[in-house]
Amino acid sequence: MRSLSILIIFSSFFLVPTHASDETEYQQRRARLVKEIQASVRDTESYIGKSSLNPLVMKVMGNLPRHEFVPASQKPFAYFNRPLAIGHGQTISQPYIVALMTDLLDVGPNDKVFELGTGSGYQAAMLSKLVKEVYTVEIVPELGRSAKKRFQQLGYQNIKSKVGDGYYGWKENAPYDAIIVTAASNQIPPPLLEQLKPGGNMVIPIGAPFTIQQLVLVKKDEQGKIHTQQMLPVRFVPIRRNH
Ligand code: SAH
Repeated sequence: MRSLSILIIFSSFFLVPTHASDETEYQQRRARLVKEIQASVRDTESYIGKSSLNPLVMKVMGNLPRHEFVPASQKPFAYFNRPLAIGHGQTISQPYIVALMTDLLDVGPNDKVFELGTGSGYQAAMLSKLVKEVYTVEIVPELGRSAKKRFQQLGYQNIKSKVGDGYYGWKENAPYDAIIVTAASNQIPPPLLEQLKPGGNMVIPIGAPFTIQQLVLVKKDEQGKIHTQQMLPVRFVPIRRNH
């Protein structure tokens, strides 16, 4: 009997809401997720040097419909603080990492941001609520196309996306106030450094593919000098190149 009630509670927790109260249910799950992220931030304070993230970033995360960015089979897990498979061997990052990377970029409402690795489009959607324009590039055509459709359907008008090799950035719209790289690289792609404005920030996981990488905050100062700071160990899918 006891195991049965546990089973019922457990399975109802995993159910995907499908009725009028969906939005309330999702909102509650997001509020819980935000609390979990806040706890993770406190737990990792010794790495990241702060015990809380920008409240505006957390507010955006608390309203962003992550369930719209994952395949149907993953929807029950959309508000768990963990990465999820989005097909083609790729993943949508863990919400804590999305929140942290967004916080580190330190963007403002007039900024223009470049993202390498559109994936599901969730990170770009997050940024679009904080900046003026987001430019994002995805190398897997199917992912790039479905993210573009998603941006249109959900009304993210200030996101421009295309399929291509993000290693080269998106020169026509450069320079950028901030650049986010959501796939691991063994070095900072030189074209991206070039397309970063003086005074701008870049966040990028650096390290060999399929190992633990370091999340690195790169700052280009007003004189164009580069400063880097290792934040914490992370695990991202590797950058792919079209050869
Ligand atoms: N930001 C994404 C998660 C990214 S996963 C989200 O919010 O869902 C990393 C993505 O980077 C994958 O979709 C992968 O296909 C893409 N990628 C890898 N190498 C790339 C490259 N050279 N240019 C553009 N995208 C790349």
